[in-house]
Amino acid sequence: MKIIRDDFPILSVLENGKPLIYLDNAATTSKPLAVLNAVETYYRMDNANPHRGVYELGARATKAHEDSRKIVGDFLNASSDEIVFTQNATESLNLIAYSYGIEFLKKGDEIVLSVAEHHSNLVPWQRVSKITGAKLVYLYPDNMGHLTEEELDKKITSKTRLIAVAQVSNILGIEIPIDSIVRRARNAGAVVVLDCAQSIPHMIVDVKALDVDFAVFSGHKLYAPMGIGVLYGKKDLLDKMPPFLTGGDMIGSVHEQSSTYAEVPRRFEAGTRNVGGEVGLAAAINYLNSLGWENIKNHEKELMTQALKGLTDIPHITIYGDPSPDKRHGVISFNVEEVHPHDTASLLDSDGITVRAGHHCAQPLMEYLKINSCVRVSFGIYNTKEDVDIFINSLKNVRGLMGYGS
Ligand code: PMP
Repeated sequence: MKIIRDDFPILSVLENGKPLIYLDNAATTSKPLAVLNAVETYYRMDNANPHRGVYELGARATKAHEDSRKIVGDFLNASSDEIVFTQNATESLNLIAYSYGIEFLKKGDEIVLSVAEHHSNLVPWQRVSKITGAKLVYLYPDNMGHLTEEELDKKITSKTRLIAVAQVSNILGIEIPIDSIVRRARNAGAVVVLDCAQSIPHMIVDVKALDVDFAVFSGHKLYAPMGIGVLYGKKDLLDKMPPFLTGGDMIGSVHEQSSTYAEVPRRFEAGTRNVGGEVGLAAAINYLNSLGWENIKNHEKELMTQALKGLTDIPHITIYGDPSPDKRHGVISFNVEEVHPHDTASLLDSDGITVRAGHHCAQPLMEYLKINSCVRVSFGIYNTKEDVDIFINSLKNVRGLMGYGS
């Protein structure tokens, strides 16, 4: 995979006079030339407002928009009319919360979330709960970060109407047992919302095989531009949902006192679209497919195995969640004893290494783990074994530089 580093111009930028070791891929990924060029070509050659102009250029813009939707649909194993373009995972989740949650949930119903959810898959459900009276019920991982069958049995009941969970947590990096969750959801008659923001860069997400009702992700964590997101929804569910945002392009006809709405997916795509972002997302998917998902998985597994071993061997480090690489994808969160996570991140930065420190938009999980914050290192396709070595060696010095014994 080393060869592909040349595909990512930003990786040759110097940070603090040192080569950039970019290890904040869970926050956002760098973009390959295939994506940058596709976006530039769209704006140079095909830019117009899709669905509006009758002229040839407008037809090309509409084609770029719909071709991108088809590529995303094929990628998820969904049909094109089940794919809605949004700004990001957050907007996709809000769309489901407002157009499904508020419309179809009521007092007495239960919404099941994991305590490890990112705020964007938690705060919208708090709004739904407040507006509808439906109760929020939390799944708590065991002390290795796994959701157990007993916990699922206890929390998913005949009152459960909706389960919203991240396939991979942005802190623990651990894959949840989605098959067990969907099976219980089917028995309970509940819908499943799968937040794939942290899983989609690392694995094929086949929405039909998983049999989830909704799935969301952000393009920018999948090597595509910022500002483009995806919502997948089963067609029969999307069809019965009212619009989320209203205005131009999502209508059938508009009269002074009333309007009719377009068919899905256009019903959920109000206003001018981010076609450049859609084209960039399609290019990212084609690029990743051309690398091969088995290659991506094997490469990332090697990096995770090496990093987890390196971290486990350093004294005074706490890793959050199961330190085995088997069910982990891309993300490791940890703390260095007695050192504030921001200090750890700053010291690593002085060696050109970018990691994230903070609560990572998962404050309920921080409370559950009884910490305020932690350091998160996260890997992408272009990271190398040398990156991991440099990171581990730099981390070994952190306690010493802060005046503590090793
Ligand atoms: N869910 C998870 C698990 C995430 O990690 C993130 C981003 N950190 C989001 C949702 C929200 O993504 P965005 O900010 O791109 O909408």
